[in-house]
Amino acid sequence: MNLLWDKCDTLELAKKYGTPLYVLSETKIRERCRIIQDDFLKKYDNTKAVYASKAFLTTAMCKIIEKEGLGLDVVSGGELYTAIQAGFPMAMVEFNGNNKTIDELELAVNHEIGRIIVDNAYELDLLEKICKEKNKVMDILFRIVPEADTDTHEYISTGHKSSKFGINLLPETIFSIIKRAVDSDYVNFKGIHFHVGSQLHDNKSHLNAISKTLHLIKDLKDQNITVEDMNIGGGFGIHYTDDDQVKPLAYFLEPSMKIIEDYCQENDLERPMIIIEPGRWIIGEAGITLYTVGAIKTNGDKKYISIDGGMSDNIRPSLYQAKYHADICNRLDEDKTDLVTVSGKFCESSDLLIRDIYLPKAQSGDILAVYSTGAYTYSMACNYNKQPIPGVVLACEGKDYVLVKKQTFSDLIRNECIPSHLEE
Ligand SMILES: *Cc1c(COP(=O)(O)O)cnc(C)c1O
Repeated sequence: MNLLWDKCDTLELAKKYGTPLYVLSETKIRERCRIIQDDFLKKYDNTKAVYASKAFLTTAMCKIIEKEGLGLDVVSGGELYTAIQAGFPMAMVEFNGNNKTIDELELAVNHEIGRIIVDNAYELDLLEKICKEKNKVMDILFRIVPEADTDTHEYISTGHKSSKFGINLLPETIFSIIKRAVDSDYVNFKGIHFHVGSQLHDNKSHLNAISKTLHLIKDLKDQNITVEDMNIGGGFGIHYTDDDQVKPLAYFLEPSMKIIEDYCQENDLERPMIIIEPGRWIIGEAGITLYTVGAIKTNGDKKYISIDGGMSDNIRPSLYQAKYHADICNRLDEDKTDLVTVSGKFCESSDLLIRDIYLPKAQSGDILAVYSTGAYTYSMACNYNKQPIPGVVLACEGKDYVLVKKQTFSDLIRNECIPSHLEE
């Protein structure tokens, strides 16, 4: 029996579409959205969930998110454009990012998106200017630096004191920018946003950041400023390998809601709308990547099995030592007795997709499935070594659908030009 993904035979998919290939399970994506509905949106009133689309975004993904009743968090003009093209309801879109350009802000204002999460004073200046020109008023949140350290990799930790994201909580900084927004004719101050980091298995950084935000909300109330929205970000961890101590979503959200509700009651505050922004948690485990095994060799004490992709389709191991689990799709019933390193085909020594994993004895031509590759893989893909970006297929109950066609060689030079003096 070959590996099945959403009831599709992975060997058939590899044969039909070629490898490398990203395969997403629609059933798994929707299951995650339903858990968000049941354990958060339906459980607590005045709540909202937006999918952090930088984890994985295509026009079809926008459709799934819309059908599941979630909003969309974008962090660039390109992501916003994708949502616009997919006909996603703009009132359900929020825009994050620490250095949004003028063009990006103009696009957001033109389409009257739901919220802009303002990161800094320069951005507030730009936004007010754009809104004034266009005679529009935008609803905004401020992203704060909650100074909550996390137990995740430094590169995906975002809420520590010296983070590049957000506005620091020094009274002279935070109160003056919020007052500016409150007094502005061009923005509506709606609330506070933070995001502490990604791939977290511990709730303490969320709880810590929530406490700081609640104090801020109370201080603002004392100055007659009401906070209607409190966005507590994403970052909920998923299973990559058995080293991950995965917790259910409720492990993060139940104590979060409790301290928010208790604090609001004790301090006579109206409980703001609570918004979460999961990305990885929705899409990560729904995805696998299929590769064909090529060269197999032993150098020194390492046995390598080489695959036809690597860091251009999944940069996470090279970028932050991310770990993955894998299976050989056509050898599921064989014992995993062979200690190997899965090597990518790119000209970098760090292009090792999985270091030291036990697999069945592989042969060239086998199909390898790497698990939990739905998030931050396709969305981070590049053309290093002029490798075309693989296609994305959606598997659902035994049927398969193309979401993104694989790039061809001609795509690689589509935007290239040769100056005329070089043509002679
Ligand atoms: C990346 C990001 C998220 C999503 O993070 P995940 O770890 O994928 O859940 C949420 N909010 C903001 C502001 C982000 O930058």
